[in-house]
Amino acid sequence: MKIFKTINELKNYRKDCKGSVGFVPTMGALHNGHLSLIKNSVEQNDKTIVSIFVNPTQFLPGEDLDIYPKRELADIKICELAGVDAVFIPNTKEIYGEIEPQILAPNKKGYILEGLKRPGHFDGVLRVVLKLFGIVNPTNAYFGKKDAQQLYLIKNMVNSFFLDISIVGCEIVREEDGLALSSRNLYLSLEDRTEALKISKSLKVASQAMIKGVFDCKKIKKIMSETMENMDIEYIEIVDRDFNKIDKIILKNSIILVVAIVGGTRLIDNLWI
Ligand code: AMP
Repeated sequence: MKIFKTINELKNYRKDCKGSVGFVPTMGALHNGHLSLIKNSVEQNDKTIVSIFVNPTQFLPGEDLDIYPKRELADIKICELAGVDAVFIPNTKEIYGEIEPQILAPNKKGYILEGLKRPGHFDGVLRVVLKLFGIVNPTNAYFGKKDAQQLYLIKNMVNSFFLDISIVGCEIVREEDGLALSSRNLYLSLEDRTEALKISKSLKVASQAMIKGVFDCKKIKKIMSETMENMDIEYIEIVDRDFNKIDKIILKNSIILVVAIVGGTRLIDNLWI
């Protein structure tokens, strides 16, 4: 497996790749959620490139940029064992120039929900993903459904800029007890972790209610917030797959989104219906 730290090295490598190239952009501290994206890519492409880059522009002032977990050696090992062909670990100075056009997430869909709570977050995400796409020039790029709004906005960007890249959404990977995997779970104490389980439980309770025929969004949200009693809930929202808010759940076209803060850590989860 190759490891590249400069854009030129990566581009030279890419030039000689024959066939399809799968790309998995990450911020490192890799877990089984990342690994499932990587496995999909390895299976579906001739070559797989994984990037590890903690992107400063997607963090708001006061967020966890400075303490974001770094595990470069372990990440490299994970990639190697998974059959990755090249890992790209660029540095911020090379990725960002002093004078650049602005990339802004669309007002309507980039500044609601996550974008409302973290204004500018998706500007940073789209900016770095567009740059990484420019460097890697992938055939297919893999993103988790866990970051549902991010996945929607990236697909939208690829369509808007007529990029020849297929965006592949991958299922959410969970611990056995239901907790959605996240690099930020490393911040949780044992107590926090137990408390955090209420988030995935609320989604389970929502799906049980739907089995019983409850599709009214207000009712589903109420049941969920009852399950998350005493938690610091940031939002529970139900949208269609284009991120329009809806009143009634539409099968195969809805997503229930939930965000809560546990012990100072912001945890997001969702259920695609
Ligand atoms: P991150 O390193 O947090 O930026 O995540 C990199 C990619 O992994 C994103 O596309 C995430 O949506 C995806 N991802 C993170 N956690 C999970 C998970 N538990 N299941 C599936 N994909 C995930």
